Amino acid sequence: MKTDGYRNDDVLYERAAAVIRDTNNGIAVTGAGISVESGIPDFRSAGGLWSRYPPDQFATMEAFTQNPDKVWEMWYELAESLQGVEPNPGHYALAKLEEEGHIKAVITQNIDALHHHAGSNTVIEYHGNADKIACTACFRQRDMDLSHRALGAPRCECGGVMKPDVVLFGEVIPEYALRTSDMLARGCDVLVVVGTSAQVYPAASLPFLAKESGATIIECNTEPTNFTNVVTDIFLQGPAGETLPALTALVVGESDGGN
Ligand code: NAD
Repeated sequence: MKTDGYRNDDVLYERAAAVIRDTNNGIAVTGAGISVESGIPDFRSAGGLWSRYPPDQFATMEAFTQNPDKVWEMWYELAESLQGVEPNPGHYALAKLEEEGHIKAVITQNIDALHHHAGSNTVIEYHGNADKIACTACFRQRDMDLSHRALGAPRCECGGVMKPDVVLFGEVIPEYALRTSDMLARGCDVLVVVGTSAQVYPAASLPFLAKESGATIIECNTEPTNFTNVVTDIFLQGPAGETLPALTALVVGESDGGN
Protein backbone atom coordinates (compact mmCIF):
# COMPACT_ATOMS: atom_id res chain seq x y z
CA MET A 1 0.00 0.00 0.00
CA LYS A 2 1.11 3.62 -0.57
CA THR A 3 1.12 4.54 3.10
CA ASP A 4 4.85 4.54 3.79
CA GLY A 5 5.80 5.05 7.40
CA TYR A 6 2.57 3.53 8.71
CA ARG A 7 2.09 -0.09 9.68
CA ASN A 8 -0.75 -1.21 7.48
CA ASP A 9 -1.46 -4.77 6.61
CA ASP A 10 -2.61 -5.41 3.05
CA VAL A 11 -5.14 -7.83 4.52
CA LEU A 12 -6.83 -4.88 6.24
CA TYR A 13 -7.21 -3.09 2.92
CA GLU A 14 -8.59 -6.26 1.29
CA ARG A 15 -11.11 -6.63 4.12
CA ALA A 16 -12.18 -3.00 3.94
CA ALA A 17 -12.43 -3.13 0.14
CA ALA A 18 -14.55 -6.29 0.26
CA VAL A 19 -16.99 -4.67 2.69
CA ILE A 20 -17.35 -1.55 0.52
CA ARG A 21 -17.54 -3.53 -2.72
CA ASP A 22 -20.49 -5.49 -1.29
CA THR A 23 -22.57 -2.46 -0.36
CA ASN A 24 -24.67 0.11 -2.15
CA ASN A 25 -25.63 1.60 1.19
CA GLY A 26 -22.47 3.09 2.65
CA ILE A 27 -21.80 6.61 3.89
CA ALA A 28 -18.68 8.64 4.72
CA VAL A 29 -18.20 11.04 7.62
CA THR A 30 -15.29 13.43 7.21
CA GLY A 31 -13.48 16.00 9.31
CA ALA A 32 -10.64 18.48 9.04
CA GLY A 33 -8.04 15.72 8.47
CA ILE A 34 -9.24 14.97 4.94
CA SER A 35 -8.42 18.54 3.87
CA VAL A 36 -4.98 18.77 5.50
CA GLU A 37 -3.31 17.53 2.30
CA SER A 38 -5.11 20.28 0.39
CA GLY A 39 -3.17 22.72 2.55
CA ILE A 40 -5.87 23.54 5.12
CA PRO A 41 -4.48 22.84 8.58
CA ASP A 42 -6.77 21.33 11.19
CA PHE A 43 -7.64 23.96 13.76
CA ARG A 44 -6.38 22.17 16.85
CA SER A 45 -2.77 21.47 15.93
CA ALA A 46 0.11 23.74 17.03
CA GLY A 47 0.00 26.90 14.91
CA GLY A 48 -3.58 26.07 13.87
CA LEU A 49 -6.32 28.68 13.82
CA TRP A 50 -7.38 28.06 17.41
CA SER A 51 -3.88 28.83 18.75
CA ARG A 52 -4.13 32.36 17.32
CA TYR A 53 -7.88 32.86 17.61
CA PRO A 54 -9.12 31.17 20.81
CA PRO A 55 -12.51 29.62 19.95
CA ASP A 56 -14.24 31.14 23.00
CA GLN A 57 -13.32 34.62 21.70
CA PHE A 58 -13.78 34.05 17.98
CA ALA A 59 -15.99 31.07 17.26
CA THR A 60 -18.96 31.37 19.60
CA MET A 61 -22.29 33.00 18.90
CA GLU A 62 -21.85 35.01 22.11
CA ALA A 63 -18.52 36.44 20.89
CA PHE A 64 -20.06 37.22 17.52
CA THR A 65 -23.01 39.07 19.07
CA GLN A 66 -20.75 41.08 21.38
CA ASN A 67 -18.18 42.08 18.77
CA PRO A 68 -18.88 41.01 15.17
CA ASP A 69 -16.01 43.10 13.75
CA LYS A 70 -13.49 41.25 15.91
CA VAL A 71 -14.88 37.83 14.99
CA TRP A 72 -14.83 38.76 11.31
CA GLU A 73 -11.03 39.27 11.50
CA MET A 74 -10.72 35.49 11.87
CA TRP A 75 -13.29 34.72 9.19
CA TYR A 76 -11.63 36.97 6.63
CA GLU A 77 -8.31 35.26 7.34
CA LEU A 78 -9.92 31.84 7.00
CA ALA A 79 -11.70 32.81 3.78
CA GLU A 80 -8.43 34.11 2.37
CA SER A 81 -6.66 30.86 3.25
CA LEU A 82 -9.38 28.88 1.44
CA GLN A 83 -8.95 30.78 -1.82
CA GLY A 84 -7.53 28.62 -4.59
CA VAL A 85 -7.52 25.50 -2.44
CA GLU A 86 -8.14 22.30 -4.42
CA PRO A 87 -9.50 18.88 -3.46
CA ASN A 88 -6.86 16.18 -2.92
CA PRO A 89 -6.92 12.48 -3.89
CA GLY A 90 -8.82 11.64 -0.68
CA HIS A 91 -11.77 13.83 -1.73
CA TYR A 92 -11.69 12.40 -5.26
CA ALA A 93 -11.62 8.83 -3.92
CA LEU A 94 -14.85 9.40 -1.98
CA ALA A 95 -16.47 10.96 -5.06
CA LYS A 96 -15.47 7.83 -7.01
CA LEU A 97 -17.04 5.54 -4.39
CA GLU A 98 -20.28 7.52 -4.74
CA GLU A 99 -20.10 7.41 -8.55
CA GLU A 100 -19.63 3.62 -8.37
CA GLY A 101 -22.72 3.35 -6.16
CA HIS A 102 -21.05 2.20 -2.95
CA ILE A 103 -21.61 5.26 -0.82
CA LYS A 104 -24.78 7.32 -0.84
CA ALA A 105 -23.60 10.48 0.88
CA VAL A 106 -20.70 12.30 2.46
CA ILE A 107 -21.48 13.96 5.77
CA THR A 108 -18.77 16.50 6.44
CA GLN A 109 -17.87 18.74 9.34
CA ASN A 110 -15.71 20.77 6.98
CA ILE A 111 -16.70 24.18 5.73
CA ASP A 112 -14.33 24.25 2.75
CA ALA A 113 -16.71 22.87 0.05
CA LEU A 114 -13.93 20.56 -1.24
CA HIS A 115 -16.20 17.50 -1.46
CA HIS A 116 -18.44 19.46 -3.86
CA HIS A 117 -15.43 20.56 -5.88
CA ALA A 118 -14.22 16.93 -6.09
CA GLY A 119 -17.54 15.86 -7.62
CA SER A 120 -19.40 14.32 -4.67
CA ASN A 121 -23.10 14.90 -5.33
CA THR A 122 -24.75 14.24 -2.01
CA VAL A 123 -22.85 16.24 0.58
CA ILE A 124 -24.34 17.13 3.93
CA GLU A 125 -22.44 20.05 5.41
CA TYR A 126 -22.97 19.63 9.09
CA HIS A 127 -21.34 22.92 10.00
CA GLY A 128 -22.23 24.97 6.91
CA ASN A 129 -19.99 26.42 4.22
CA ALA A 130 -17.53 29.31 4.45
CA ASP A 131 -18.16 30.32 0.81
CA LYS A 132 -21.44 31.91 1.92
CA ILE A 133 -22.47 34.56 4.40
CA ALA A 134 -25.98 35.13 5.74
CA CYS A 135 -27.81 38.04 7.34
CA THR A 136 -28.57 37.52 11.02
CA ALA A 137 -31.75 39.60 10.67
CA CYS A 138 -33.41 38.61 7.36
CA PHE A 139 -31.32 35.45 6.55
CA ARG A 140 -30.54 36.65 3.00
CA GLN A 141 -27.44 34.88 1.66
CA ARG A 142 -24.50 36.32 -0.26
CA ASP A 143 -21.12 35.01 -1.41
CA MET A 144 -18.17 35.67 0.87
CA ASP A 145 -16.43 38.80 -0.44
CA LEU A 146 -12.91 39.57 0.75
CA SER A 147 -12.99 43.06 -0.76
CA HIS A 148 -15.16 44.12 2.22
CA ARG A 149 -12.41 43.20 4.65
CA ALA A 150 -11.40 46.74 5.60
CA LEU A 151 -15.00 47.53 6.57
CA GLY A 152 -15.22 44.85 9.27
CA ALA A 153 -18.42 42.82 9.60
CA PRO A 154 -20.39 43.06 6.34
CA ARG A 155 -23.90 44.53 6.46
CA CYS A 156 -26.99 43.37 4.64
CA GLU A 157 -29.19 45.73 2.59
CA CYS A 158 -31.72 45.43 5.43
CA GLY A 159 -29.14 46.82 7.87
CA GLY A 160 -28.56 43.50 9.65
CA VAL A 161 -25.08 42.17 10.42
CA MET A 162 -23.94 39.37 8.12
CA LYS A 163 -22.39 36.22 9.56
CA PRO A 164 -20.44 33.45 7.81
CA ASP A 165 -22.95 30.73 6.98
CA VAL A 166 -21.26 28.30 9.33
CA VAL A 167 -22.31 26.89 12.67
CA LEU A 168 -20.58 28.66 15.55
CA PHE A 169 -20.22 27.09 18.98
CA GLY A 170 -23.49 27.73 20.78
CA GLU A 171 -25.57 27.49 17.59
CA VAL A 172 -27.70 24.52 16.65
CA ILE A 173 -26.85 22.30 13.69
CA PRO A 174 -29.30 22.96 10.82
CA GLU A 175 -32.30 20.69 11.26
CA TYR A 176 -32.02 19.19 7.76
CA ALA A 177 -28.36 18.20 8.26
CA LEU A 178 -29.07 16.77 11.70
CA ARG A 179 -32.08 14.67 10.69
CA THR A 180 -30.66 13.44 7.40
CA SER A 181 -27.30 12.48 8.94
CA ASP A 182 -29.01 10.68 11.77
CA MET A 183 -31.21 8.75 9.34
CA LEU A 184 -28.28 7.88 7.06
CA ALA A 185 -26.10 6.73 9.96
CA ARG A 186 -28.85 4.52 11.44
CA GLY A 187 -29.67 3.05 8.01
CA CYS A 188 -26.23 2.45 6.46
CA ASP A 189 -24.34 -0.82 6.50
CA VAL A 190 -20.84 0.64 6.10
CA LEU A 191 -19.58 3.94 7.51
CA VAL A 192 -16.17 5.27 6.50
CA VAL A 193 -14.99 7.88 8.99
CA VAL A 194 -12.07 10.02 7.84
CA GLY A 195 -9.84 12.59 9.55
CA THR A 196 -11.93 13.54 12.52
CA SER A 197 -10.74 13.62 16.11
CA ALA A 198 -14.12 12.43 17.41
CA GLN A 199 -14.37 15.41 19.77
CA VAL A 200 -17.06 17.61 18.20
CA TYR A 201 -20.59 16.43 18.94
CA PRO A 202 -23.15 15.65 17.59
CA ALA A 203 -21.12 14.75 14.45
CA ALA A 204 -18.96 12.43 16.55
CA SER A 205 -22.03 10.38 17.50
CA LEU A 206 -22.68 9.24 13.90
CA PRO A 207 -20.26 6.25 13.90
CA PHE A 208 -21.79 5.12 17.21
CA LEU A 209 -25.33 5.29 15.78
CA ALA A 210 -24.24 3.32 12.71
CA LYS A 211 -22.46 0.71 14.81
CA GLU A 212 -25.56 0.24 17.00
CA SER A 213 -27.51 -0.51 13.83
CA GLY A 214 -25.00 -3.17 12.78
CA ALA A 215 -22.83 -1.21 10.31
CA THR A 216 -19.15 -1.94 9.74
CA ILE A 217 -16.99 1.06 10.66
CA ILE A 218 -13.86 1.72 8.60
CA GLU A 219 -11.67 4.52 9.97
CA CYS A 220 -8.95 6.42 8.09
CA ASN A 221 -6.76 8.68 10.21
CA THR A 222 -3.09 9.39 10.76
CA GLU A 223 -3.61 8.73 14.50
CA PRO A 224 -5.90 6.55 16.59
CA THR A 225 -8.92 8.48 17.92
CA ASN A 226 -11.67 7.99 20.46
CA PHE A 227 -13.43 5.84 17.84
CA THR A 228 -10.53 3.51 17.14
CA ASN A 229 -10.72 1.07 20.03
CA VAL A 230 -14.43 1.52 20.63
CA VAL A 231 -16.41 1.37 17.38
CA THR A 232 -13.88 1.00 14.56
CA ASP A 233 -13.77 -2.41 12.88
CA ILE A 234 -10.98 -1.68 10.40
CA PHE A 235 -8.44 1.09 11.04
CA LEU A 236 -6.38 2.25 8.06
CA GLN A 237 -3.63 4.45 9.42
CA GLY A 238 -2.09 7.13 7.22
CA PRO A 239 -2.86 10.35 5.35
CA ALA A 240 -6.33 10.22 3.79
CA GLY A 241 -4.87 11.36 0.47
CA GLU A 242 -3.09 8.00 0.35
CA THR A 243 -5.29 5.57 2.28
CA LEU A 244 -8.56 6.45 0.50
CA PRO A 245 -7.22 6.21 -3.08
CA ALA A 246 -5.50 2.90 -2.21
CA LEU A 247 -8.75 1.55 -0.76
CA THR A 248 -10.87 2.85 -3.62
CA ALA A 249 -8.52 1.35 -6.21
CA LEU A 250 -9.03 -2.06 -4.61
CA VAL A 251 -12.82 -1.57 -4.52
CA VAL A 252 -13.15 -0.58 -8.17
CA GLY A 253 -10.32 -2.76 -9.43
CA GLU A 254 -8.23 0.08 -10.86
CA SER A 255 -4.59 0.99 -10.37
CA ASP A 256 -5.60 4.47 -9.15
CA GLY A 257 -8.79 5.02 -7.15
CA GLY A 258 -8.40 8.76 -6.92
CA ASN A 259 -8.42 10.97 -10.01
P1 NAD B 1 -9.92 18.02 14.31
O1 NAD B 1 -8.99 19.13 13.96
O2 NAD B 1 -10.43 17.95 15.69
O3 NAD B 1 -9.20 16.60 14.01
C1 NAD B 1 -8.53 16.34 12.81
C2 NAD B 1 -8.26 14.85 12.72
O4 NAD B 1 -7.68 14.57 11.46
C3 NAD B 1 -7.28 14.32 13.78
O5 NAD B 1 -7.82 13.12 14.34
C4 NAD B 1 -5.99 14.05 13.00
O6 NAD B 1 -5.28 12.94 13.53
C5 NAD B 1 -6.55 13.72 11.63
N1 NAD B 1 -5.66 14.00 10.51
C6 NAD B 1 -4.76 15.01 10.36
N2 NAD B 1 -4.19 14.95 9.15
C7 NAD B 1 -4.75 13.90 8.51
C8 NAD B 1 -4.60 13.34 7.21
N3 NAD B 1 -3.74 13.85 6.33
N4 NAD B 1 -5.33 12.26 6.90
C9 NAD B 1 -6.20 11.70 7.77
N5 NAD B 1 -6.39 12.20 9.03
C10 NAD B 1 -5.68 13.28 9.37
O7 NAD B 1 -11.05 18.04 13.22
P2 NAD B 1 -12.60 17.74 13.30
O8 NAD B 1 -12.81 16.49 14.08
O9 NAD B 1 -13.10 17.83 11.93
O10 NAD B 1 -13.20 18.94 14.15
C11 NAD B 1 -12.79 20.28 13.88
C12 NAD B 1 -13.94 21.26 13.64
O11 NAD B 1 -13.38 22.42 13.02
C13 NAD B 1 -14.96 20.71 12.70
O12 NAD B 1 -16.19 20.94 13.26
C14 NAD B 1 -14.82 21.53 11.40
O13 NAD B 1 -16.04 22.18 11.11
C15 NAD B 1 -13.86 22.64 11.69
N6 NAD B 1 -12.73 22.65 10.73
C16 NAD B 1 -12.97 22.65 9.39
C17 NAD B 1 -11.90 22.67 8.49
C18 NAD B 1 -12.16 22.62 7.01
O14 NAD B 1 -13.24 23.00 6.58
N7 NAD B 1 -11.20 22.10 6.21
C19 NAD B 1 -10.59 22.72 8.96
C20 NAD B 1 -10.39 22.75 10.34
C21 NAD B 1 -11.47 22.70 11.21
